[in-house]
Amino acid sequence: MILETLRRIVGEVGRARDLTMALEAIVRGVREALDVAVCSVYLVPRAKVGDPDAPLMLMATEGLSRKAVGRVSLSPSEGLVGLVAQRAEPINLDNAPQHPRYKHIANIGEEPYHAFLGAPILLRGEVLGVLVVQDYASRRFSDDQESFLVTLAAQLASSLVQAELSEAVARPPSSRKKVVGEAIRGVPGAAGVASGTAVVVYPQADLEAVPDRHCDDPEIELARLKAAREAVRAELIALRQGMAHRLPEEECVLFDAFTMMLDSESLFAGIERRIRAGAWAPAALRDTIREYAAVFEGMDDDYLRQRAEDVRDVGTRLLEHLQEVENGIRDYPERTILVGREITVTHLAAMPEGRLAGIVSARGSSASHVALLARALGVPAVMGASELPVERLDRRELVIDGYRGVVHVDPHGALREELDRLVREEAQLSAELATLRDLPALTPDGARVHLYVNVGLLADMAPANNVGAEGIGLYRTEIPFQVRDNFPGEEEQTRIYREVLAAYAPRPVVLRTLDVGGDKPLGYFPIHEDNPFLGWRGVRLTLDHPEIFLTQVRAMLRANKGLGNLRILLPMISGVGELERALELIDQAHAELREDGLNGEAVQVGVMIEVPSAVYQVDALARRVDFLSVGTNDLTQYLLAVDRNNARVAPLYDSLHPAVLRAIHDIVAGGRRAGRPVSVCGELAGDPLGALILLGFGIDSLSMSAGSLPRIKRVIRSVPLKHARQLAWETLTCERGDEVRAMLRAALRDYGLGGLIRGDE
Ligand code: PEP
Ligand code: MG
Repeated sequence: MILETLRRIVGEVGRARDLTMALEAIVRGVREALDVAVCSVYLVPRAKVGDPDAPLMLMATEGLSRKAVGRVSLSPSEGLVGLVAQRAEPINLDNAPQHPRYKHIANIGEEPYHAFLGAPILLRGEVLGVLVVQDYASRRFSDDQESFLVTLAAQLASSLVQAELSEAVARPPSSRKKVVGEAIRGVPGAAGVASGTAVVVYPQADLEAVPDRHCDDPEIELARLKAAREAVRAELIALRQGMAHRLPEEECVLFDAFTMMLDSESLFAGIERRIRAGAWAPAALRDTIREYAAVFEGMDDDYLRQRAEDVRDVGTRLLEHLQEVENGIRDYPERTILVGREITVTHLAAMPEGRLAGIVSARGSSASHVALLARALGVPAVMGASELPVERLDRRELVIDGYRGVVHVDPHGALREELDRLVREEAQLSAELATLRDLPALTPDGARVHLYVNVGLLADMAPANNVGAEGIGLYRTEIPFQVRDNFPGEEEQTRIYREVLAAYAPRPVVLRTLDVGGDKPLGYFPIHEDNPFLGWRGVRLTLDHPEIFLTQVRAMLRANKGLGNLRILLPMISGVGELERALELIDQAHAELREDGLNGEAVQVGVMIEVPSAVYQVDALARRVDFLSVGTNDLTQYLLAVDRNNARVAPLYDSLHPAVLRAIHDIVAGGRRAGRPVSVCGELAGDPLGALILLGFGIDSLSMSAGSLPRIKRVIRSVPLKHARQLAWETLTCERGDEVRAMLRAALRDYGLGGLIRGDE
């Protein structure tokens, strides 16, 4: 029961479209659930979150005087509310007026209350506010009540910020006061600053995910609604007939209830009214369904309360039909910034060429595959902006700063000018970097580092060719597998790989065998696991399915015929046994091709070092292959035990962590001992700070997203190897990533390269 109440309140707050609605849902819900006289919420003004002296303002109350809302404000050193914020922990008192920190505030109607329970509202360790309940009697709140309040407060923070941002971006820009404070924070996904128009992508058949959009022609939307209504009616009739002999009559009545809803003139009048007021049909439907469902949910009768689900069900069916018509007719503005709770490779693949200006995702982190693709395409990305009011952003003007991980909505005035300046500077930097295209990656003291690009989508081949790469250091073959409806066959794969190999010949191309699992799902080969990143991933899966592996390797070898620039790379190797098995299968593929009279020429094979066990077995692995390639994305994830995709732990995901650097150092040393070249193909290679250190460690080649390559070439051409070596050694004595970062940043600035690491300041 308690859990259900909790879920209900959290759900209501999550659905609130502005802060006032969210706060009211909290105070109302909590007062009722705990059966207390007062529930209030105090909040720190958003611009002051993190400031230990920030005041706490009474923002909503049930029980105290409403007139005090927005007027009463306490400093953290004042009153019990201040004490909860200061300690960032709950306080449960039977007789509050007797506590030394009790502060009486006149005229808010607080006089008769004795029992006090306050819980802090915390987001990522910072106090956003305090949730308080009070009651007449002198009694301690029970443990159950305390844990209810604490659990609720812990779940509210993100929704409150989201509701506040949602309200802020809904106001016309000129009426916003704290414009700078309204920047939406995420984490850096891909470097760069860009402006453009937001296009919100959202999952199908999910009413709550429908974004706001203005409609220019209500008649078209009304016609769409009418068609959807008729289609759902037909669908329900068919369903009822189909079920009639399988379900008892009383169960079939459910379909009649649905049909009655479709006949409800008041329901449709509500949707139509919203359309005539300028909303597009899906948003008008979403809001009307919400309103109806809320009416049912508020009823005392259990049976009627359950009908809220039916209302939502009918709403979802209508939405499905509206979306059917909408599919495929999405128009993308000239400079589109894709925005969504979750952006997938498929969303990117659907974009017409040349229109993508940036990406903003509420989920994920800098190591998510979408961020990597953004870098490959050379567009900035902001990831993990979990409080993003997605449904309010469609067609809004955005400026995104991928260096800092910040999104600005409709910026204006001085802020707009500042951002426009940054966008111009960014364009200038790109133009400057473009002049390096045909120059070698040579340090001032003559050391040569080979620079390759990471590639996946065929669409990112063009940028890769334009940046003057010496070849492809990592071709993620899973991407062509992901954008299809079934496993591509040997012929099709041969054609895809041939295209890539031919585009670069005679420059080397490293094709990695299939690395699905983890955060790279195949729609047609679903894998459900509790710990996907520790599960059936990469070579583990393909060794269990030798037919997939053999088909792929045969296709790679056939594609190499007459070109000779293929190298094969094996992902997720965690021990010698796996490597030997994979090498045997590669030999088998060779032998089969020779038997068939097809190309069976020998190729170089390498192993990815991206699992901690491989670091400790680097000598044994290196002896068995031709080259090593360090996957710093996974190596960081597995060494630090931080999910590379989880926005919540994104601040802990740090490839410059001294443990990761020590591991890379040891891998390079292992490669040297075995006489095998070592390259880095994880994102660290494309980070100016990371490249500097890798140069110092004596890495032979770096492979990175095309968008990063010009910056890295600039770093290599500016810093002598001798100095990079010295820096690398010094970083090995550091105990924290921050120290490493500060040292490398200072060095780059000394070489006049501060512009490359803007967001790191
Ligand atoms: C890595 O893990 O560093 C890597 C290059 O592979 P992926 O990002 O595709 O897992
Ligand atoms: Mg990897």
